Amino acid sequence: MRVGARSAISTLTPHLGTPVASLAADFAGLGLSEPLLKAVAAKGYRHPSPIQKQCIPAVLEGLDVLAAAQTGTGKTAGFTLPLLERLLHGAHARGGVVRALVLTPTRELAAQVADSVRAYGRYLDLRSDVVFGGVNIRPQIERLRRGTDVLTATPGRLIDLQQQGALRLDRVEILVLDEADRMLDMGFLRDIRRILGLLPEKRQNLLFSATFSPEIRRLATGLLHQPVQLQASPENQTAASVEQVLHPCDMARKGDLLSHLIRSNDWQQVLVFSRTKHGANRLAERLCSDGLQAAAIHGNKSQGARTRALSGFKSGELRVLVATDIAARGIDIQQLPHVVNLDLPNVAEDYVHRIGRTGRAGCDGHAVSLVAAEEQELLRAIERLIGEKLPRREVPGFEPTVLSAPPLDLSGGRGRPPRGGGSGRPPRRR
Ligand code: AMP
Repeated sequence: MRVGARSAISTLTPHLGTPVASLAADFAGLGLSEPLLKAVAAKGYRHPSPIQKQCIPAVLEGLDVLAAAQTGTGKTAGFTLPLLERLLHGAHARGGVVRALVLTPTRELAAQVADSVRAYGRYLDLRSDVVFGGVNIRPQIERLRRGTDVLTATPGRLIDLQQQGALRLDRVEILVLDEADRMLDMGFLRDIRRILGLLPEKRQNLLFSATFSPEIRRLATGLLHQPVQLQASPENQTAASVEQVLHPCDMARKGDLLSHLIRSNDWQQVLVFSRTKHGANRLAERLCSDGLQAAAIHGNKSQGARTRALSGFKSGELRVLVATDIAARGIDIQQLPHVVNLDLPNVAEDYVHRIGRTGRAGCDGHAVSLVAAEEQELLRAIERLIGEKLPRREVPGFEPTVLSAPPLDLSGGRGRPPRGGGSGRPPRRR
């Protein structure tokens, strides 16, 4: 995926009358017009997903929406299709005006959503664009001058652009906050409030979040006007099509075990989550030295390196992608077969986000967690959250020798090397 090339503005050309493929007939009943149905058919979707069935009519009616939907539910089409439909019926954007604004927490997710906007809007005469940090701002300023019907953005870069007078947010008709829980986790609340202050009072608001903390509820209360509340899957529950398993093992042998699992099961496309950037780097290097094509993505990698790694992983050149939680947001690969937790996340909700990367859109997925004695407390928190006990399966030759150990010290651990995490070093004892 070349984000640079994709970030170029796309003027979508009007489509002239081929009949809508019967493929997307189920979508027609939801009130979308022909160019959108044709784009849906081109994507190969036959039936709207549950969140789409609920969300599309609500947005078309002009209602505010509060949706509990994790990635993999089809939420992006759920808001993008009706948003495009509504924009079709108004005047085009011009002179720096933005008509619909989609805010996302990460660059990767922004690029992904913008791709969807482009794909669903391919037969419409609407202009869409995406802006995020880490790349030159000048071309973005140039492009925005002409006005943008749908702008997908990360909050920091949007504020920069607004301060430089590159765009006008006082005509926004529709605002979408995508993965709002993640935006708050990443400390974007102040930026979001600032952006809200630049928008006109009268507008439609859509808020999507995988989890609903008190902070999210507070944000929603201040933002949404009598919202329709939608739920794609029961709150805080994992997708039913994901087979979850836990392999108990020693911290110091996680790298060995993972390398063994990939080779002995012949896994071809594996997304591995690491709690730390350092752990991600070390594991990727280690797998490469075992002859497995692997790369790491995290916040310390340049945008170019992240984009290259993602595209290599999508195309199959890379067999293993090791990512931190934040970098992994927005990775959208259909039918991602295997997700591995090299270590358990500090925050139990992140487990749900992580395994939401597999078993998407009706495909079966496989989520494996490598769990050491030090992680028992994290494991308990996850099992409490998802309301089930993960099946334990020891792998012969990798049975744990450490059966109880003091819990990990997670305070202030950002950027520090993980204890073990496939490093080959024994865990530190206290
Ligand atoms: P999302 O939850 O928006 O990240 O979408 C998850 C994946 O499901 C994406 O790869 C979409 O292309 C795909 N998808 C969305 N809607 C449908 C649908 N109605 N039928 C089949 N796949 C879909």
